Amino acid sequence: MSRIAVIGSGTMGNGIAHVFAQHGHEVALIDVNQAALDKAVGTIQGNLDRQVKKGTIAPEAPAEILGRITTGTELGAAKSAALVIEAASENPVTKFDIFAKLDQLCVPDTILASNTSSISITEIAARTRRPGQVIGMHFMNPVPVMQLVEVIRGHATSDATTKTVMEMAAALGKTPVEVNDYPGFVANRILMPMINEAIFCVFEHVAAPEAIDTVMKLGMAHPMGPLALADFIGLDVCLAILDVLHQGLGDDKYRACPLLKKMVAAGDLGRKSGRGFYNYGKA
Ligand code: NAD
Repeated sequence: MSRIAVIGSGTMGNGIAHVFAQHGHEVALIDVNQAALDKAVGTIQGNLDRQVKKGTIAPEAPAEILGRITTGTELGAAKSAALVIEAASENPVTKFDIFAKLDQLCVPDTILASNTSSISITEIAARTRRPGQVIGMHFMNPVPVMQLVEVIRGHATSDATTKTVMEMAAALGKTPVEVNDYPGFVANRILMPMINEAIFCVFEHVAAPEAIDTVMKLGMAHPMGPLALADFIGLDVCLAILDVLHQGLGDDKYRACPLLKKMVAAGDLGRKSGRGFYNYGKA
């Protein structure tokens, strides 16, 4: 099994480390924030314990899986990895800086992947001297549960890199889907306009949030209504992705609803702030 490095140990990074370690890979989990690393290890432990209770892994498995994960605050731990997956904060400057550094640091064979939801893989790759070995590996939240990995080819991503990453994702028991690098890729290009339209329905008093979500759940067999999903993702994240679609594709059909902008400005960000389209009590 190959050595993997995961950069960023937040919501997505801890799930990505968990899944790779569960499938026998040695994982270096790296974050600038030690508290985030400590929290990630606790989350992975809790999720593994839940898997034992469900009977999907053996009682001795959590110790073995956690034993394959090392944590640290230095990017240097990614040096000899076969694959690095960056899951740091969704900020282009942060990601460009991480990729430029990884390119200097990692052995020539290393593939550099990003879990970004909306930043251009082509632009990230251009910060390196190995654009053929830079690719998007977009896992879904929660990573141990969700089946899909959107594999995003940048302008220069090679066939060999794509093949390796598709095979690695399949070996994790996931279903990889190959897409090309355009704003929002496929997942968010389709999801975010639907969420935005649901918000316009609230804005224009077409129906109440509960009614809109019920229509989509019972009428379209969606497991979660679009407004509950927006609260789960975070309204600030939804707004940022809509802005990427609007700017990147230059079409006003992606313009964010004024109500979404107003809620984000007010700090009503969904579950993480305790209030969005629904009330969650204290965050
Ligand atoms: P998060 O805020 O939970 O975690 C980000 C982590 O990155 C933090 O622990 C932070 O300390 C760390 N970090 C910041 N700068 C760093 C640096 N220079 N080096 C190392 N670590 C650094 O974010 P998240 O929700 O896990 O999102 C991570 C990435 O995954 C983003 O690109 C996001 O768009 C993408 N994504 C998120 C979701 C989701 O539902 N949360 C789904 C798919 C993709």
